[in-house]
Amino acid sequence: MEKLAGEVGAAAARLMRPSLRRVINATGVVLHTNLGRSPLSPDALAAVLAASEGYCNLEYDVQAGERSSRQAHVEDLLRSLTGAAAAFAVNNNAAAVLLVLTALARERDVIVSRGELVEIGDSFRLPDIMHQSGARLVEVGTTNRTRPSDYLNAIGPDTALIMKIHQSNFRIVGYSEDVSLAELVAIGRQQFVPVVEDMGSGCLADLAPAGLAGEHTAAQSIEAGADLVTFSGDKLLGGPQAGIIIGSSDYMESVRKHPLARAVRIDKMSVAALEATLRAYLDPEKAFADIPALRMLSEPADAVRARARRLKRMLGTTCEVACEIVSEESRAGGGSLPVADIPTWCLRLTHASRPAEALEQELRAADTPVLGRVKDGALLLDLRTVADAELPALAKAIRDLD
Ligand SMILES: *Cc1c(COP(=O)(O)O)cnc(C)c1O
Repeated sequence: MEKLAGEVGAAAARLMRPSLRRVINATGVVLHTNLGRSPLSPDALAAVLAASEGYCNLEYDVQAGERSSRQAHVEDLLRSLTGAAAAFAVNNNAAAVLLVLTALARERDVIVSRGELVEIGDSFRLPDIMHQSGARLVEVGTTNRTRPSDYLNAIGPDTALIMKIHQSNFRIVGYSEDVSLAELVAIGRQQFVPVVEDMGSGCLADLAPAGLAGEHTAAQSIEAGADLVTFSGDKLLGGPQAGIIIGSSDYMESVRKHPLARAVRIDKMSVAALEATLRAYLDPEKAFADIPALRMLSEPADAVRARARRLKRMLGTTCEVACEIVSEESRAGGGSLPVADIPTWCLRLTHASRPAEALEQELRAADTPVLGRVKDGALLLDLRTVADAELPALAKAIRDLD
């Protein structure tokens, strides 16, 4: 009877609990799509609260006393951060790509290299988006090699645009060749065909000084001459879910005016978070300090190790669980920096009588679920993606494993 009462109580508690909850990401994947991608900066959170607690000037110019555009809050920031003549924010990058293709290439040809027809994840495939837009996909080159002449030969009277898609979550290495954005721009200019780049993960700051080479910035794409560039707000940019389109004013006008623009428009909470996140980039030092994704990606391994030691000290020695601090590798995730190994430190947990899978399962069932990864018979908790403020909850979950 008591057991039954306990079960009923637990079931009731489960029902009352919110479905969308905080979790502790100890996977070491910084931009984890299943875990909400980038956490927001304190400024972005404050901006969301301020804009949505009451009313806000979302589409109202308070000085002039008249209607304005929600784009006004982010457009100038995006322009000054990327050097683009025009900018437009939508709901996410998939929507940005769909909108650009629908507005500029419906029932016409879009030339793409076979090496760039990517599946991003969860069966989201670029060719499907293209099909949805009504654009005709013209594939050129082969999986590993595409040359300038492949694009040139494919251009015809029905060509609407040349598209370059960031390879995101993979790299082709070895016997390979692709055509740079600058080369595509030269071809496009000569043939009067616009060039659109889907950057995927939109990088606004140079990550190379932080030891993360391999991603170019949106400003570099504009400088290379891309007519339009699209990217996500919640990947390397470190902001809210959003899709950002930057580029030339003429093409942007067609995008802005297309009826689909309304269907994929960005909501006010995202505008608020995006504006605050972009504002941080005006001072790169502030961006790396305040934007969690950038901070986590660039944090020196020694600092991660110090956090691992702090956690180990918090655990004490009472537990059945053996833990040691081990050197490992984190990943950027979010389809960015796929080949960058980011050195990190993990807490490696093993239990005298229980398999790592059982520990993994139990930590997932904690009040604040903890997600790690099982490797070689142990549960690894990567401290790169764990915030200092989460250490007490994480320590409690581990102590409760006994
Ligand atoms: C992630 C990604 C997208 C989709 O972006 P969302 O913001 O998730 O909609 C599109 N293209 C590329 C190349 C990507 O990496």
